[in-house]
Amino acid sequence: MNSPRGSGLYRRSKHHAVPSRPAEAPPAADVGQVRQISSLTNDLVKDMRGLQAKKERAETGLFLAEGLKLVTDAFVAGWSVKTLAYAEKVRSQPMVAKAIAEALARGVDVVEVSEAVLEKISRRDNPQMVVSVIEQCYQPLEAIDADKATVIVALEGIKDPGNLGTIIRTVDSVGASGVILVGETTDPFAIEAVRATMGSIFHVPIARASLDDFLAFARAKRLPMFGTHLAGAVDYRTPDYPEPAVLLMGNEQSGLPPRLVEACTQVIKIPMVGEADSLNLAIATGVTLYEMRRKRLTL
Ligand code: SAM
Repeated sequence: MNSPRGSGLYRRSKHHAVPSRPAEAPPAADVGQVRQISSLTNDLVKDMRGLQAKKERAETGLFLAEGLKLVTDAFVAGWSVKTLAYAEKVRSQPMVAKAIAEALARGVDVVEVSEAVLEKISRRDNPQMVVSVIEQCYQPLEAIDADKATVIVALEGIKDPGNLGTIIRTVDSVGASGVILVGETTDPFAIEAVRATMGSIFHVPIARASLDDFLAFARAKRLPMFGTHLAGAVDYRTPDYPEPAVLLMGNEQSGLPPRLVEACTQVIKIPMVGEADSLNLAIATGVTLYEMRRKRLTL
């Protein structure tokens, strides 16, 4: 089925699980050729731009990643890169040249484009000079190895892609085991979310679950659950946090729903002394995660 915005060059592919090891580069016989595109109406350009839309990402199972670092991280982590587009002026930069060679060796579609094309794909005036299309990757809930987990962060109804990307980056930094998106949430593969992860999207397992499935999973695995709430009666610095455990965060507008609050082992609160009603969700997650893992982290 063709995409409503582009040509449908990107067919839907099944989301794959987090790769356990980086994919090996194919033999030299598979090496492809770089194409040049300067037309703003080229089908590939339209398809890449189309991935800015959630519907298009859902239909194709792909997403856009901006910048050389992200595509390099994707290669190292073994994610499936479909297209690499770069501006002619950066072609000879050593790290770009290396990424182009790596992409060609892996059979990735490599295209040299004008800056106007990159602006169109990125919808930005000053776009990154390298943009890639990568296959999305979710971890099935049942594949999460709760016994080996440290902290699993469950985010109920998170709406802001920047918050989600920041949380994924923090989960990576603190050595937490992954993220479960509970209920209707923003897309972790939205361009703003991917940007905010700064590459951690490739290293943090992400699962999705309905509220019922999440509760069934946590009960079956007997995971202690620490929920954060403005009405919490326990200072977040007082529990002796076990591992594995779940840190449960409410959404930006309404906080945790009563069903999830009831399921918590403890409902914790971060003290606030100023006039703010609450902390930003990503900040609250970071502060709590560092406390939960405090004794296990060293410089
Ligand atoms: N109006 C919402 C409410 O009443 O819960 C505020 C939500 S707050 C912006 C987003 C999430 O961050 C909350 O659901 C909670 O998980 C966490 N959070 C923010 N500030 C917190 C605090 N001081 N203590 C505990 N959790 C907090």
